Order: sequence, then C-alpha cells, then structure tokens
Amino acid sequence: MRKTAPLSPPETQIVSTYRVCCDGGEGALGHPRVWMPIPHDVGWVDCGYCDKRFVHADHVAQHEAYMAALAKDDPAAA
Ligand SMILES: [Zn+2]
Repeated sequence: MRKTAPLSPPETQIVSTYRVCCDGGEGALGHPRVWMPIPHDVGWVDCGYCDKRFVHADHVAQHEAYMAALAKDDPAAA
C-alpha cells in the first residue's frame, strides 16, 4: 500500500469481504456507523462520510491500475 501516492484518499483499507463498515474511527473523522457494499465489478468503495476507501483484496491490482490511469490522464492532479 502506498500511502504517499499523490491521489491517495485519506485512508485506504484492504478488506476481504464485499460488505464493509465504517464509522470514521476516533477524532475529527468520526461519523455514524454505516455499512457499504463493494460493487463486484469495481472492487472498492469510498465512504461517503470520511472518504476512506475500502479495496477488496481480490481487486488491489485493479485499484492500483485505476489510480495509475487517473494520474496519467489528469496531469493537474499529479
Ligand atoms: Zn467513513
């Protein structure tokens, strides 16, 4: 996991299920606990409250490729 990548969301967690729970953790990012399904065709989901990203373990490589493509297509964000 590359936490220093320019386009990294605040936090990325690798998970092994397609249904994840987020409450933002302690501190400023805390929010009511929500459950989110990870779309099988995408392989990850962003929390609508704190932008934390959950990537399914089977889609880590796919996610990396997606992020690399984003950086390539959008120089302003690099
Ligand atoms: Zn969250």
